[in-house]
Amino acid sequence: MKRVVQSRRKVFGQLLEHARRQPHRECCGILAGQDGVITQAFPAKNVAADPIRNYEIAPKEIVHLMEQFRERRLAFLGIYHSHPNWMDTNEPSPKDIALAYYSGAIYFIVTPRPYATTPFRAFSIRDGRAMELEIQVLP
Ligand SMILES: [Zn+2]
Repeated sequence: MKRVVQSRRKVFGQLLEHARRQPHRECCGILAGQDGVITQAFPAKNVAADPIRNYEIAPKEIVHLMEQFRERRLAFLGIYHSHPNWMDTNEPSPKDIALAYYSGAIYFIVTPRPYATTPFRAFSIRDGRAMELEIQVLP
């Protein structure tokens, strides 16, 4: 049985819009919400040296976003990034798994490809292993 992650519908629109703005490279950001339900996506800058193949959010930007979450009574729930349109799947890459520092976070991977069967996938990544979660979309 898959563990479930709940998210508001509008968040998926935000992720897709962000991923499609530059579909040939990876985009990234942070997901926040309340009571375990993701309610908002906060786009971040991808500062990876090679943003075509990787993503990295500057620690400074994470700290800044955390401050905003505190003010708005939101909890940090996850991290999202896209796999560009030239990549086949939105499965965590070995690098995604190696660099998943926030073991409590849920990692969403988005594909900007039109008509993708799974435009969004969510994973829990711990101890070098990724486990897919079931996404429940709330209104
Ligand atoms: Zn990735």
